Amino acid sequence: MSVAIAIDGPAGAGKSTISKAAAKQLGFIYIDTGALYRTVGLAASRRGVEPVEGKEVEKMLASIKVELTFNDKGEQVVLLDGEDVSGLIRTPEASMMASKISAIPAVRAYLLDLQRDMAKKGNVILDGRDIGTVVLPDADVKIFLTAAPEARAERRYKELVEKGMDVKYEDILADVKERDYNDSHRAIAPLKQADDAVLADTTEVDLQGSIDLIVSIIKERT
Ligand code: C5P
Repeated sequence: MSVAIAIDGPAGAGKSTISKAAAKQLGFIYIDTGALYRTVGLAASRRGVEPVEGKEVEKMLASIKVELTFNDKGEQVVLLDGEDVSGLIRTPEASMMASKISAIPAVRAYLLDLQRDMAKKGNVILDGRDIGTVVLPDADVKIFLTAAPEARAERRYKELVEKGMDVKYEDILADVKERDYNDSHRAIAPLKQADDAVLADTTEVDLQGSIDLIVSIIKERT
């Protein structure tokens, strides 16, 4: 029997870094579902489709192909119509586009089966916003990973600066708050802690401490 772990939480809580490291330590496959929403967002920006126009977005979905694969290092690669867009989807603009487009029901429905199919590949950790509540309601372990908005903005700011991007902390904090609002107020699959999820707040915990915490929660429950 394979094991499925759902890790949900707001933007910038360190979900991807922590989940990736925990998966490596446990020998699990790590799947970053936000990359799928980012890819659909990128497709919309390339085609000039407004991320709030349901009908237009729906039409676009019928004409694009989003795939999730892994390279020989075991890292996740997302393909948009066969093109590797894994790097292109990592900008603040792509984050905002993903947050907006993910509120469209057709987008969530489009990505649901893809995520469920991926979860059947073996022992997996999926990270996202609605994994424990919608995608994998029967996940073996559910974790809601969060931190204060200021702590999350600070981390994302450092990450982008390290990548050489010219960004301001205040803008990142405003983005974090806007995305939190969008993600938790949308009508469909809003970001919320599943009733049976373990809460992990990493505001005061460093990266290694957070990884250790998540690994121990998973080990205790599987
Ligand atoms: O996790 P990440 O920041 O890459 O996600 C980008 C956006 O995709 C989020 O702001 C959220 O709106 C959306 N998303 C979602 N459901 C998921 C994963 C991401 O709605 N399972």
